[in-house]
Amino acid sequence: MDNGVVDRSSSSRRIAVVGAGIAGLAAAHRLVELDPRANVTLFERAGRLGGVLHTVHEAGFQVEQSADNFITTVPFGLELCRRLGLTEQLVQTNPAYRRTYVVRRGRLHTLPDGFLMMAPTRLWPLALTPILSPMGKLRAALEYFIPPRRDEGDESMAGFVRRRLGREAFDRLVEPLVSAVYAADLERLSVDATLSRFRDMEREHGSLIRAMRRQMAQRRRAHRGHSRETSESGARYSMFVTLRDGLSSLVDALAARLPAGSIRLETPVERLAPGMEGGWTLSLPGGSETFDAVILATPSYVAGELVGPVDGELGRSLSSIEHSGTAIVSVGFESRQIAQPIHGMGAVVPAVERSPILAVSFSSHKYVHRAPEGKQVFRVFVGGARAPEMAELSDGELVPIVLKELKSLLGISGEPIYVNVAHWPRTMPQYHVGHLDAVTRIRSLVATHPGLELAGNAYQGVGLPDCIHSGEQAAERVLAQ
Ligand SMILES: Cc1cc2nc3c(=O)[nH]c(=O)nc-3n(C[C@H](O)[C@H](O)[C@H](O)COP(=O)(O)OP(=O)(O)OC[C@H]3O[C@@H](n4cnc5c(N)ncnc54)[C@H](O)[C@@H]3O)c2cc1C
Repeated sequence: MDNGVVDRSSSSRRIAVVGAGIAGLAAAHRLVELDPRANVTLFERAGRLGGVLHTVHEAGFQVEQSADNFITTVPFGLELCRRLGLTEQLVQTNPAYRRTYVVRRGRLHTLPDGFLMMAPTRLWPLALTPILSPMGKLRAALEYFIPPRRDEGDESMAGFVRRRLGREAFDRLVEPLVSAVYAADLERLSVDATLSRFRDMEREHGSLIRAMRRQMAQRRRAHRGHSRETSESGARYSMFVTLRDGLSSLVDALAARLPAGSIRLETPVERLAPGMEGGWTLSLPGGSETFDAVILATPSYVAGELVGPVDGELGRSLSSIEHSGTAIVSVGFESRQIAQPIHGMGAVVPAVERSPILAVSFSSHKYVHRAPEGKQVFRVFVGGARAPEMAELSDGELVPIVLKELKSLLGISGEPIYVNVAHWPRTMPQYHVGHLDAVTRIRSLVATHPGLELAGNAYQGVGLPDCIHSGEQAAERVLAQ
């Protein structure tokens, strides 16, 4: 490889990528980006590209049916957009609406300023919030004095947060914020595999509050020292960004970079077997084909089924990563139907509220281009590990339940002018306690099979930038072989 680009003029290695979600697309794109002569075939079971990523444009609304933006502090999403020439398309979150609401007793309250997922950077807003009782606040503030846990082993999110901040801060603040991202059972969710930086803060500083306050002070000093430098350093992005024409335009841009004829839709890979003369033979609906290398970018349980006959232990390890399902109900209203003043990006709902919904994204407040003038669109999340049965309901059962809840939360009158339901069964891998060890084991088993690689959201992060990175890394490993 020279300057990142492979000079392999005689390149004739055939490489298969299985699964055309964002991870598989990023893998296929990276292969041809690094080696323009790479002979890549991308197999996708469905009739369209993108996996869960899907933007629809209907009735003047732009609706993201799953992911609706990506984080900019993990660089791989932004970097890919830059390489694809999509930088001009990036849209920042509306600065006027960057707050998050938390529901308490059926009403919206703003998340205390400076509360970052599970740690306060500022104590005063926490002291004033109506979300916690006086005892709950006192217990959370005592975090400063709670000695760190010495055991180095993994721990559940619930165990960690209750130990540090107390039960009420867990139930009322952290549980809804984390559930909205991971759709997980927090009694089983691994801190090390999801938000390990908070464990590191405990280890290094003895307390989350102390660590956050030190970090803030450092940042303020750095900001004072470099304010001139940063103001000249070019584009800076909000914490989350999206693409003006929707995230499907990322899928389209990736596909457009692949050689003609390299994408095969409606072509599920049914079996995988070692080739007679090396490589891997894929069983396809119309026969079988042999490749020098294969990147499995399917959900991990599909990868488990495919490799199981070749390596039972690898197959079982992959199949043992559980997945939860969700559904998103997107609803549009005229702005005048909405009584509640809205100044935020969305609301999260604690499990203790016993509401049928997990969270609501105020989609067109967050990104104004998503609804026509005078209209708004909301995305309501249901299901996850908290209420798996909700994600299984038919649209006819689900929509009235969601509408009743949303109308009461936002003081909405009348009927929606637009409804769209997307079901996502078994799409959110659950990073349970011990996940990192399981992934290390999976990687060491994969390494015993030359020409086999894995990519996707089940291993090293569920967010789009991590999925992109997993695909690109798999491609780089294949080309390095
Ligand atoms: C509702 C929801 C909201 C989300 N919100 C966000 C967000 O706002 N921001 C963010 O960063 N992330 C978000 N995520 C997470 C992120 O979108 C996903 O983790 C990511 O898109 C998964 O990509 P993937 O390529 O790993 O998997 P997938 O998108 O699941 O792609 C896997 C592909 O493999 C194909 N396949 C399966 N079996 C076979 C086979 N045998 N042969 C061929 N093809 C096969 C499937 O059809 C599918 O196309 C969200 C996820 C969901 C479900």
